[in-house]
Amino acid sequence: MKIQFHNPIVELSGDEMAQVMWVWIKEKLITRFFEGPLISFDLSIQNRDATEDQVTVEAAEAIKKHRVGVKCATITPDESRVTEFNLKKMWPSPNGTIRNILNGTVFREPIVVERIPRLVRSWSRPIVIARHAFGDQYKAFELKVPAGQQPKISLNGEFSPFKFESDGVFLAIHNKRDSIEGFARSVFNYSLQRNLNCYFSTKNTILKVYDGFFKSIFEEVFENDFKEQFAKAGLNFEHRLIDDMVAWVLKSEGGFVWALKNYDGDVQSDFVAQGFGSLGLMTSVLLTPDGRVVETEAAHGTVTRHYRLWQKGEKVSTNPIASIFAWTRAFYYRGLFDDNKDLINASRRLEDCVLNLVNRGIMTKDLALLTGTQDFVSTEEFLEAVAYDFESAL
Ligand code: NAP
Ligand code: MG
Repeated sequence: MKIQFHNPIVELSGDEMAQVMWVWIKEKLITRFFEGPLISFDLSIQNRDATEDQVTVEAAEAIKKHRVGVKCATITPDESRVTEFNLKKMWPSPNGTIRNILNGTVFREPIVVERIPRLVRSWSRPIVIARHAFGDQYKAFELKVPAGQQPKISLNGEFSPFKFESDGVFLAIHNKRDSIEGFARSVFNYSLQRNLNCYFSTKNTILKVYDGFFKSIFEEVFENDFKEQFAKAGLNFEHRLIDDMVAWVLKSEGGFVWALKNYDGDVQSDFVAQGFGSLGLMTSVLLTPDGRVVETEAAHGTVTRHYRLWQKGEKVSTNPIASIFAWTRAFYYRGLFDDNKDLINASRRLEDCVLNLVNRGIMTKDLALLTGTQDFVSTEEFLEAVAYDFESAL
């Protein structure tokens, strides 16, 4: 008997090595053990080009409607891709398009495996980074100012923020309440769903008005709508100064959601990812402010270099774990939304099979190198072993 789910999961296929693994994972682990409606969209670069990128919009609308989506990595075209695939246009990043339509927050969560050493050894539990992907430095107004001139800002009267005795530079940034509030809600909902403590960091001692605005919105949303749920779950929320937070994170053992402003999140997500050590073990979840719609994905790209080897007929050892976890997390959410305990349990069990296998020393090349051995299996061998263990576990 296969594990059943009753409401649809929206499935977005993609490109290159990630897509090759996608097909293998579906065949060996998904359709073999799970049964339920899958609504599929082909987000390959060829089909995005053929549909003038409408397929991406339709996929996002379908996720919105059915609440759970799982996505394969896709090519974001640059000049060389436009030539390679003879594209009509340099289509925008599908992830950007989907994020705009769902208006969600991206959470990057590492998969922590005991046997795989981390660069930061104390991090034995995941640190989930939530980046506010709106405004600030990314929509800044920048200006070069010649010596002796004074730029002016006007809002109910005019004032000059700074006197330029030498030439210099000037910067204006903005943010807005509805975006910050939506971010806060996504962050609190994700913390509850993953049962993790939550921190938000700013530099409100220096930017008293600007960062103070962020801090007070987080506190307001928490007090009004999340305090009781957090207390019931035994979880905490705390605002911390960014510099205190960075120092504390480094010596912490992990196990929390860390919400950051746009620029801080950009920087810290790369820092934390490196500390955990492997792209093949990083997942990415997009969650809407109301916590009702989710899209899961591996954080890595299409792994082009491995694809070229595979095209030549070589056996590859690309790590499929983050892609498998995209599926297990999609099942987890489907189960959570539909109150389907069997599905939630099966998703946990499948994750455990994957982790146990690595802990027993069966792993792809990227992880073998991290543990200092040359003993690795191919992607397909790894997936076969997961399927074998999962079948026995059921
Ligand atoms: P990438 O696909 O993440 O791969 C970069 C390198 O990281 C690989 O060459 C490989 O290193 C290692 N790596 C990544 N995932 C791995 C895995 N599962 N197992 C083992 N090693 C892994 O990034 P990229 O090469 O810069 O980008 C390729 C394409 O992906 C681009 O067209 C880009 O637009 C797209 N992309 C898509 C997404 C997305 O859809 N979310 C995200 C990022 C990039 P070694 O070569 O050393 O083995
Ligand atoms: Mg960055």
